[in-house]
Amino acid sequence: MRMSRLLMPTLREVPAEAEIASHRLMLRAGLIRKLAAGVYSYLPLGIRTLQKVQNIVREEMDAAGAQELIMSALLPAEAYQASGRWEVFGPSMFRLKDRNDRDFCLGPTHEELFTECVIDNVKSYKEYPMTLYQIQTKYRDEARPRFGVIRSREFIMKDAYSFDLDEKGLDESYKKMYDAYNKIFTRIGLDFTVVDADSGAMGGSGSQEFMVKSPVGEDGIAYCDACGYAANYEKCECIPKEVIQISGDLPREKIETPNAHTIEELVLSLGMEATNFAKTIIYKADDKYIAAMVRGDRDVNEVKLKNLVGCTDDLELAEPAIVREITRAQVGFAGPIDLGIPVYADKEVAMMKNFVVGANETDMHYKNVNIGRDFEPDVVADIRVVVTGDACPKCGKPIKSEQGIEVGHIFKLGTKYSDALGLRYLDENSEQKTVVMGCYGIGVTRCVAAAVEQLHDDNGIIWPVSIAPYEAIVVPANYKSEEQMAAAEKLYKELTAAGIETLIDDRAERAGVKFKDADLIGIPVRVVVGKKVGEGIAEYKERTMEKAVEISIDEAAGKVIDFVRRNK
Ligand code: ATP
Ligand code: MG
Repeated sequence: MRMSRLLMPTLREVPAEAEIASHRLMLRAGLIRKLAAGVYSYLPLGIRTLQKVQNIVREEMDAAGAQELIMSALLPAEAYQASGRWEVFGPSMFRLKDRNDRDFCLGPTHEELFTECVIDNVKSYKEYPMTLYQIQTKYRDEARPRFGVIRSREFIMKDAYSFDLDEKGLDESYKKMYDAYNKIFTRIGLDFTVVDADSGAMGGSGSQEFMVKSPVGEDGIAYCDACGYAANYEKCECIPKEVIQISGDLPREKIETPNAHTIEELVLSLGMEATNFAKTIIYKADDKYIAAMVRGDRDVNEVKLKNLVGCTDDLELAEPAIVREITRAQVGFAGPIDLGIPVYADKEVAMMKNFVVGANETDMHYKNVNIGRDFEPDVVADIRVVVTGDACPKCGKPIKSEQGIEVGHIFKLGTKYSDALGLRYLDENSEQKTVVMGCYGIGVTRCVAAAVEQLHDDNGIIWPVSIAPYEAIVVPANYKSEEQMAAAEKLYKELTAAGIETLIDDRAERAGVKFKDADLIGIPVRVVVGKKVGEGIAEYKERTMEKAVEISIDEAAGKVIDFVRRNK
């Protein structure tokens, strides 16, 4: 491709809302443009990479025996009503009506539709096992679309669904997808970890997430180098850690804590450790309110708590006005004693003695509070966020934690959808049984951004050959030099003829501009034809190399072809 003809609107400046490197670089390199919050178009360089990711996904899914089909994004409400998810998705589902007032949505995920497709089209138990997939556009009206295509409202997902006669079959189908996912993310060039994920709320029997480690990731990963355990924060069981405390119950005292609304302020004003306090946080859980208690130095894991409470919507912090109403005090003084709403206490709180809690009275706390004597939590469970240094739930060694971007998710659904929608079969003894399902997602567009997030430097993107929009770039340093232009053209033709996807920077631009752009758009290998063209010398540089090396122009094509083929 000639860069003089390429739509590649690179930018010097990027909008301030682009908070992370991948978002900035995808805009700067002219891969994407924003149409609305969380809605993007892909320009020529962007779509090429996206298609390469899709092809890798497709090849590995096909190799694992899955069959591709495609469904509409515009879906009638009935399927989701039958499974109950028309309500469950709440405001995150894009809903619309047709001219006859019939309800439709833009599909956020397709479990129901694939289940119906199998109900309608599979006639005999002999057709199972079967895994179907599509690479298709999904719509979710995310509360906080951000980070470019990492969390967007329109995105491409590969979603696959397996259908088996029994649990054993599901285990095998799941394993095939697990293996395929490992191959896919390796081929894309991502550094990833597989973690155990929470499957409680969806009622499945097992689930794993593929996480790209990154400080900007929105998911927490806990892992243990000693035994190999890895789980996301929601799934990782926290082993309660007891702190040394005075034994015996001291008399409860009400103390004045003027203007101490936070644990930090309390620690300062009372001169105690954060571990002597228990925080009481009030949440809205669907249409009721609950209180959660964790030790002063801990945070609540809202997914653990949500699963425990069993509510449909995500938990939300109660509005200040509600907190004032429930506690009869200013915000910051909530406590469990006579609170009047259900109290969920973390296991560590249940181990505390003579601790401090809010007194449900402005500027007041209670000291020397003890469970049993002063209050009784309604539920005691693990509801806190795991932290580095916690004991590994498997081997007890200290755990490490890191942030990750979820690029894939595999899930044993069991019979949740086949029961709800009636996907059954008659076995060889004419006995009726329920089909056992799994579902498997990959965020295809998110993968592109995750790759940029992991693979970039100060100058731009560093594409792996496997997903680079073009594999090589030929740069004549001085466009006014006929000799340089002719040698560059010759090399460009040779590479193209050898099947290398090559750019030639034939633009009337200074060499410096061309080098900057080549780095920014991250082309894996570059050949510059410059001043030494008369001596038959060019400069060769892989994007990851510090400096260019001189090579003979005659050898340039061979070297580039070899590099690309080795790294594809
Ligand atoms: P998240 O927790 O990030 O919201 P999820 O668990 O709801 O994602 P799944 O339903 O498991 O997502 O979807 C499968 C895959 O689709 C995810 O692993 C992720 O890679 C991708 N994905 C989900 N939501 C988005 C989004 N808003 N933008 C881009 N990709 C997404
Ligand atoms: Mg997920």
